[in-house]
Parts: sequence; structure tokens; C-alpha cells
Amino acid sequence: MAKNTIENFGRNVSFSPSLRYQVQAESEVLAVLGSHRDMRFRAVGSLHAWSRVAETKAVLIEMQGLNFVEVADDGQSVWVGAGCKVKRLLQKLSRVGLTLPSVGLIDEQSVAGATATGTHGSGSASLSSCIKAVRIAHFDASGNPVLAAIDSGDRLLAARCSLGLLGIVVAIEFHCRGKYNIEEHALAHRTLASAIAMEADCPRSQFYLMPWSWTYFGHHRSESGEPRGAFATLYRVYCFLVIDVGLHVAVTFLARVLKSAWAIRFFFRRVLPFTILRRWKVVDDSHAMLVMEHELFRHIEIEVFVPRSKVQAATDFLVDVVCVFGGRPRQNAATTDALLDSVSLSGTLEQHAGSYVHHYPICYRRVLPDPTLISMTSVSQHADDDEDWYAISFISYQRPGDREGFCAFAGFVAAAVAKCFGGRCHWGKYNPLDAQQNAELYPQLERFQKVRNQFDPERQFSNDWLDEVI
Ligand SMILES: Cc1cc2nc3c(=O)[nH]c(=O)nc-3n(C[C@H](O)[C@H](O)[C@H](O)COP(=O)(O)OP(=O)(O)OC[C@H]3O[C@@H](n4cnc5c(N)ncnc54)[C@H](O)[C@@H]3O)c2cc1C
Repeated sequence: MAKNTIENFGRNVSFSPSLRYQVQAESEVLAVLGSHRDMRFRAVGSLHAWSRVAETKAVLIEMQGLNFVEVADDGQSVWVGAGCKVKRLLQKLSRVGLTLPSVGLIDEQSVAGATATGTHGSGSASLSSCIKAVRIAHFDASGNPVLAAIDSGDRLLAARCSLGLLGIVVAIEFHCRGKYNIEEHALAHRTLASAIAMEADCPRSQFYLMPWSWTYFGHHRSESGEPRGAFATLYRVYCFLVIDVGLHVAVTFLARVLKSAWAIRFFFRRVLPFTILRRWKVVDDSHAMLVMEHELFRHIEIEVFVPRSKVQAATDFLVDVVCVFGGRPRQNAATTDALLDSVSLSGTLEQHAGSYVHHYPICYRRVLPDPTLISMTSVSQHADDDEDWYAISFISYQRPGDREGFCAFAGFVAAAVAKCFGGRCHWGKYNPLDAQQNAELYPQLERFQKVRNQFDPERQFSNDWLDEVI
């Protein structure tokens, strides 16, 4: 047992649990619960969440030691200890010719932490959607710690993305699929419609809106039956040196040292476009192609999710928000004003003029609807009507102490996108939405709460932030 202050990856959340345990077995989790029956509990994996979802003043259970991987004999599924990193799971699966149907941009998260917040990649549903069954430690009606096995019904839909609110997840069974290769190439686009149109042929694409030049760059990706290409290693070296390291050194220097709006705009208009190699088609293993080393430089991120039919209007609006915060003239003033009027926010945007200069490519990823109750892309009750969602992310590399402007920007984006487009905020990223906003955004929240009442009627697996926002 250790006692001290815990800090998340983004250094924007820190907390001091009164008790701290590191566990390696399911029985140890039950023992911790049994020793503190009247207290509150939170589990953590890799502490990558930027929201306050992981914090606790009470008992913290660190899960990284619970990391077994047991592949089923038929190769269709795998049981994994909750604290196992996604990277370790993918490596183990790869050795037997398997992988996961969905992977995010990094693989450093724990499987329970990643699924607890609906972590996703591009062109597929989230990692939560791949869950077949879950084992959760909680208290029974007599107050004794027990393990629940969940594999169907609303209990499974709730457990797939639970924010840790049902209890301590000790093990997860994921559906698996055979390993596959991806072909990738980069292309520039003048319009959003053109970038999106590429998804017909390249469904795993993700693309970026470059601030200040307002052009798009797509990483167009599709599954490929071709073997790993002869230049795949060279391409990996290029991606690591130019994107993972070069881009981030430049952006960090601009945001932390130079802090010049002019230099940031110059970089995005005149420098960055010339570093991107276009039309170089490369085939590589999906794990290598889909995952970046995005954790090398500390940053903070907010990600908003809007339905496909609203992504163009949301983009026009967000471009204006970035422009005004960055002290530049708006591009779509008439429609932005009309939108803000319609949700009683008129005049609020101009108050922030010049307070934050956005300095990172704005990433767009298409996420398919999930069979969950409260993930950001959860299916509605009328699943036939469900659209794909676009996750639009804003990242800042400013120092933790300099993020006031970013937080005001993120707060404005979250509130306005929720009101104007029904947009949701990633639970595991900076998330300033309140309980009323969330209640309106998640139509299946009541169904989730019913399941939660079965598992945790006393709210022992919640925290102060979740009490406020759910
Ligand atoms: C550099 C970086 C890149 C990222 N890229 C992506 C991306 O591409 N796509 C995306 O969607 N997200 C992404 N994220 C967000 C990240 O996937 C989520 O924040 C995720 O929840 C972090 O997982 P973790 O293991 O660090 O969990 P933690 O931050 O430790 O915990 C997150 C939540 O899970 C709960 N939890 C953890 N373990 C358990 C358990 N055993 N039982 C019950 N509850 C548990 C915690 O209590 C907390 O509520 C990224 C984050 C970073 C820092």
C-alpha cells in the first residue's frame, strides 16, 4: 500500500487517494473491497484520461499488474486482465495471427481504462463494442464483495462503456479477428466533402483540418490483401521522424516558447504542407499503421462527436470559433451568428476574441455506432436510424500552467457544439459538460442508471466529478 499524489498524463488532473493498492489477481481486488466496505473506490489503468473520471479521495486500485491474456482455442475471442495494456494484448494476439477489430491512435491504455471511456479509432466502432463479456467486482445486497459475470442484455451494454460506475472491472473478453494489413496514402483536399468522399474506397481513413490554411490532409486507409510493402520500414521511419517527433517538436516550440500567433499561422500555411509526402502508397500491418507515438509529448485534448449529417455545419461553425479565439476575422459570420442566436448564445463568442491561438491539426475520425448505452457513439433506441459519428479533436501543447485560453476555448466548443449539433464530449478527454447537458445528449442514460442501481445502489464506485455530471 502506498500513499501520495497521483497525476494524469496531461498533468491537468491530480488527486490524493487516502488508500492506494496495486493488485495482481482478482482475489486481491475482492480482498481490498472486503477490507473497506464503507468506502468509495476507483480503479485506474494508465491514467491517460484528461477528464476527472479517474480521480478519488478514497481507495484507489491500480490495475496494471492484473494483465493475463488467454486466447480461446477457437481463436474467436480472448480473456484479458483489466490492467493489461492494449499494446501487450495486441502483441500477444499477433503471435497467434490475431488482432482486435478496433484500435485507437495509441496503445498505451489499459483495456479496462480504454473501454471504460469508449476509446475509438477511425472507420470502426469503439473498442468497447468489441467486448463479449466482463467480470466485475462489486458488493452484493448483503454488502459482501462478489464477482459478477456479465455477457448479455442491458448489463452487457452498460458494462462495455461504464466509466467504472458498475464496480471494478477485473477481466474482459474481447472478440478477435485475423490479423490484417492496411494500405495507407496521404492526399490533400480543398473541401471537407472531398476528404469524406474518400471513405467510400478507404473506410479506415482519418483526416486533418489544418488551422489557418483551412485545407484538409487525409491519411486514407483501407484493408489490403497485399503483403507488407518493401518500403514499409522506410515509411515507419519517416512517420516517426517527421510526424511523431518533428511535427511535435515544432508545435511544442511554437506553443511553449515562441507563443507567437503570427509564427503559428506561418507554420501551418507555409511550412507544414511541404513536409507531407502525398500519394506514397504503403502496405503494413494494421497495428503499425493505425497506432502513432502520440504520447511522446504531453498535451491536452478535447474531442467532440457530431452525427455525420451535421459534420459540415459543425465544421463551418468550429472554423469561426478557432478564428475568433485566434483574433482573426470569421469566415462564415452569417451562419455562425444565426446558429448562436438560435441557441441563445449570441454575443458570447466575441467575448473570447484573441484569447487562444489553436496550434495543432484538427483531427477527424469516423466512428460507427456502438452497442453500448453511454459511449459517445452509443446506438439510439431506434438503431436503424443511426448515423455514423465524426470525432473532431482539438489538442494543445501549451504548458499545464498556460492552458487558461485552451480551457475557455474547449468550454465554449463543448457547450456550443452540444447545443447546436447535439454533439457529445469524449468521457476520457477534457470534458466540461454538466449533468443537464449530458442528460439531453445521452437518451439511454436512464437505462444505464437502472443497471447501475443493480450493481452499485450506494454509489461506492463513483467520484465527485461523476456525481456532478451523470
Ligand atoms: C496520448 C493519448 C492518446 C489518446 N488517443 C486516443 C484515441 O486515439 N482514441 C480515443 O478514443 N481516446 C484516446 N485517448 C483517451 C484514452 O484512450 C482514454 O482516456 C482512456 O480512458 C485511458 O485509458 P487508461 O488505461 O489510461 O485509463 P485511466 O485514465 O487510468 O482511467 C480511465 C477511466 O477508466 C476507469 N477504469 C480504469 N480501469 C478500470 C477498472 N479495472 N475497472 C473499472 N474502471 C476502470 C477509471 O476509473 C477511469 O474512470 C488518448 C489519450 C492519450 C493521453
